[in-house]
Amino acid sequence: MKVYNFSPGPSVLPLPVLEKAAAEMTDVNGTGQSVMEMSHRSKDYKPIIEKTEALLRELMGIPSNYKVLFLQGGASLQFSMVPLNLAAGDVPGVGKKASYIDTGIWAEKAAKEAAKYAAVDIKASSKDKAYTYIPAAPAPSPGDAYYHITFNNTIVGTKWDKIPETDSVPLVSDISSCILSEPLDVSRFGILYAGAQKNLGPAGTTVVIIRDDLIGHAPAWTPAMLRYDIHAAEDSMYNTPPCYGIYIIGLVLEWLKNLGGVDAIAKLNREKADLFYSYLDSSRLFYSPVEKPYRSLMNIPFVTMADDDAKKTEQETRFVKEAAAQGLINLAGHRLVGGMRASIYNAMPIDGVKALIEFMKKFEGKK
Ligand SMILES: *Cc1c(COP(=O)(O)O)cnc(C)c1O
Repeated sequence: MKVYNFSPGPSVLPLPVLEKAAAEMTDVNGTGQSVMEMSHRSKDYKPIIEKTEALLRELMGIPSNYKVLFLQGGASLQFSMVPLNLAAGDVPGVGKKASYIDTGIWAEKAAKEAAKYAAVDIKASSKDKAYTYIPAAPAPSPGDAYYHITFNNTIVGTKWDKIPETDSVPLVSDISSCILSEPLDVSRFGILYAGAQKNLGPAGTTVVIIRDDLIGHAPAWTPAMLRYDIHAAEDSMYNTPPCYGIYIIGLVLEWLKNLGGVDAIAKLNREKADLFYSYLDSSRLFYSPVEKPYRSLMNIPFVTMADDDAKKTEQETRFVKEAAAQGLINLAGHRLVGGMRASIYNAMPIDGVKALIEFMKKFEGKK
């Protein structure tokens, strides 16, 4: 049975992409080899990575003064690479200032890691209300090496409703769970990074989009694998890149382009999210804890209204189990926040959202 997979990541991929990858598994482009078997420096692999980069540049409108890097280590390694390359001092532990906005667990982790290399200033936080909104973004401090935000907060289901103004301080953003979900003006950012396994492809590849002038500031003690300048100079081939993941990302981008690109997918994403939020807002059992202006299009947490905790837990456990039996899988909320969450990334068809709403209406009817 093919299911509707609401996992936050690794997550649903477009079916035509999986089918194409299957058809090309043992022989891609008439080379007689699987992509997994190719030398990353071969003439057979070169067009694959080049196509992925060209499509990403085209779809996101990445200006020519930005480098695109395909790295490993997930978004989590960027939590270290960003401060190491932009703020770390000549000796470990004595770094420049960097501002962070705390909008959830990933933002908090990013700041915590940065504090090992930089003088981190948490400018604002929405922790006071369980991260259910995005706080106003204060101006950067003078001398900030950069200003970090998490654009879409995968666990709590919030998203920045606008790009904050940071003047000449480079804005750095984790866009792991919203890359290519809506148009984004890349030129407003110094660095954008995303783990692939939410909206781009399989786990194991991290995309980094970095403005040229931010490359080359890592102190001498920075490990080679963690230096943007080395990866940029070698076109992501300093060591073996995640070859197969880059190939799948290329197929996903091709699928997205054929669909009409980012504007077209954004329209679909808004339609899917509107359907789901309007159901939640009208339900007598379920609700969204997130304040309206900041609701994510990609990750939608929801809870039941039961007033005692035991009843709530019982309902939510039963919901996740009964939904799975109907082929609506991975609807449990993050282990740290509980409740439920539907992740409806680019590859989730609108029929999946409709099927989920139908199931929820029935569940609500019988409680
Ligand atoms: C999933 C996620 C991460 C962690 O990604 P890894 O690739 O597992 O390191 C970081 N930030 C955000 C916003 C995420 O959604």
